[in-house]
Amino acid sequence: MLERTLSIIKPDAVQKRVIGEILRRFEAAGLRIAAAKMLRLSPDTAARFYAVHRERPFYQDLVRFMSSGPVLVAVLEGENAIARNREIMGPTDSTKAPKGTIRGDFGTDVEKNAVHGSDGPDTAKWEIAFFFSESEIC
Ligand code: GDP
Repeated sequence: MLERTLSIIKPDAVQKRVIGEILRRFEAAGLRIAAAKMLRLSPDTAARFYAVHRERPFYQDLVRFMSSGPVLVAVLEGENAIARNREIMGPTDSTKAPKGTIRGDFGTDVEKNAVHGSDGPDTAKWEIAFFFSESEIC
């Protein structure tokens, strides 16, 4: 099924200057970059984006991390794009992510894990609309 998913290259990966390498991996995995922009998330915007996690003990840290530097937000499109992207990202905890996955290669720990990817169709729809208007998606 042709799907769209939201990707965020997080502040740790932007700072490591691996945006190009991560976008290359999306394209090599058959995911088309349908929209992309650099942003510096305000703490308020990061808090709204991650509102689903507001009861979790790491919420404040996560909001601080995600607003600590620029990010690249992108819409990826392709067959089973949501699952495919999660596959190449690897598991949340970078220390447990296999080499060859984006998190395994560029993440540091469970928080600084290089990339975000939507976890399901409803989330993807909400997350894409959070950052992009339909006219910005090619
Ligand atoms: P994801 O779907 O793989 O991104 O994982 P989650 O939805 O569970 O968590 C969202 C984000 O919160 C993760 O990508 C991490 O950046 C961060 N995070 C998750 N678990 C922890 C944790 O135990 N501690 C901290 N500090 N951050 C976490």
